[in-house]
Amino acid sequence: MNRIPDAVVDMYEQLPVPFGLVRFGVAPDHPEVKKCQEKFEEVAASPRFNFVGNVNIGHDIPLKQLVPHYDAVLFSYGASYDKKLGVPGEDLEGVYSARAFVGWYNGLPEFADLNPKLDAGEEAVIIGQGNVSLDVARILLCDLGELRKTDIAEHAASALAKSRVKSVKIVGRRGPWQAAFSNKEARELFNLPGAHFAPLDESFFPGEADAKALSRPQQRLLKMFKSPAKTPAEVAAKNWTFKFLLSPTSFNASSTDPTSLSSVTFTKNAFDPPTSVFAKDASVVATPESEVLPASVAFRSVGYKSAKLPEMSDIGVPFNDRRGVIPNDGRGRVVDPDSGPGELTAMHLPGLYCAGWVKNGPTGVIATTMDDAFATADTIVQDWAQQAKFIDGDAGGWDALRDEAKRRGLRTVSWEDWKKIDGTERAKGKELGKERAKFVNKEDMLKVLDA
Ligand SMILES: Cc1cc2nc3c(=O)[nH]c(=O)nc-3n(C[C@H](O)[C@H](O)[C@H](O)COP(=O)(O)OP(=O)(O)OC[C@H]3O[C@@H](n4cnc5c(N)ncnc54)[C@H](O)[C@@H]3O)c2cc1C
Repeated sequence: MNRIPDAVVDMYEQLPVPFGLVRFGVAPDHPEVKKCQEKFEEVAASPRFNFVGNVNIGHDIPLKQLVPHYDAVLFSYGASYDKKLGVPGEDLEGVYSARAFVGWYNGLPEFADLNPKLDAGEEAVIIGQGNVSLDVARILLCDLGELRKTDIAEHAASALAKSRVKSVKIVGRRGPWQAAFSNKEARELFNLPGAHFAPLDESFFPGEADAKALSRPQQRLLKMFKSPAKTPAEVAAKNWTFKFLLSPTSFNASSTDPTSLSSVTFTKNAFDPPTSVFAKDASVVATPESEVLPASVAFRSVGYKSAKLPEMSDIGVPFNDRRGVIPNDGRGRVVDPDSGPGELTAMHLPGLYCAGWVKNGPTGVIATTMDDAFATADTIVQDWAQQAKFIDGDAGGWDALRDEAKRRGLRTVSWEDWKKIDGTERAKGKELGKERAKFVNKEDMLKVLDA
């Protein structure tokens, strides 16, 4: 907006509230991370920016109807699905995707009724070893007193208060030196008061020569693994550990209640070649051995996934289903993947751009995602300056679509509306002694606007 005079930006959001995974993904005990919302507030303050909330593009307004009213359309709708493991028992009660669990404790309307069975038993198993897995573990293990003061959904705080989970195992298919989590997230778990870390098998620790070959972050991680437990097992209320070289093969029902989870069976893996234990890109192969971990609740945390919007292909917007991304030239231009030897040189589809997880896949933190968005914005500015071809439409934008939205009976939410919802959530939070009390369903969010 700063660099194209008179440019107007309309931002459509399916929920009545903004901020995507900053509100519904980032853990409640990471309030400092959510500070990036202030940057978004600055953008929203411009009279040439319109927030159009509570409009699900592709459902409430078809893309076919939207696109002809713009010079350019930027897709940055994130990754609203999760990858499945494809093993028997995955749909048993007690088995949840990390995306659902995270959405539940963060008040995402889609998962307000998840009601995870945290009171069914003491053993939790998390499959996957990325930062999201560590968030899930921390929420299961941490002190509820502190958590209650955050913006955690009230229903989650109440359920966690009744949780019987005492032991958390975070399971990966490879070893500690291949795991995806960052040291910062690991350190938070190691430092968690009241939670004992059960030490690792020493075979994962390098000898002197191998230790020297580890990267700096890996050496810091090694130090964490080797440090004496902050909370000794005898006094700890809860315990946790990492389990390595295990791939799940089935979630097993309890013999007394065939609809509920009682354990998870894993195939044991081995490094291939066996000497690659410390290599970042080491591969593993399955062995004939297996291991069963007891579990009253299990979380699969093996990644998020984007999907195409309805009718995307009808209007000529490509989607790579395998990678779960919109094909692009790496600088944010949506390309026709069939037009070139590779996506980087393929033909740009005029006026179509993408950014964030739907452009790159579901990896990257807020800082990298923001940089990526700035890069796509630079590309649009550059194309505009070079008078590249854009969408051949009426450029009427939201003004041209407003009547259509009314005809369809849509209750749209403006930035001023959001500020009312925001104010009410903060005020309710203050009464409860917490940062914010989130509304967890759309009706309650919209009711604020009718008051
Ligand atoms: C559990 C979790 C914890 C995380 N914790 C951290 C952290 O602590 N620190 C950090 O730096 N990063 C963290 N991240 C990463 C960070 O959240 C992402 O890098 C970033 O949010 C991705 O931005 P995005 O815009 O691509 O997607 P999103 O943030 O998902 O935004 C996409 C938006 O599009 C909307 N949308 C989807 N479909 C439609 C549609 N059809 N019509 C209209 N709107 C639609 C969604 O509702 C959403 O608001 C975390 C991620 C997860 C999953």
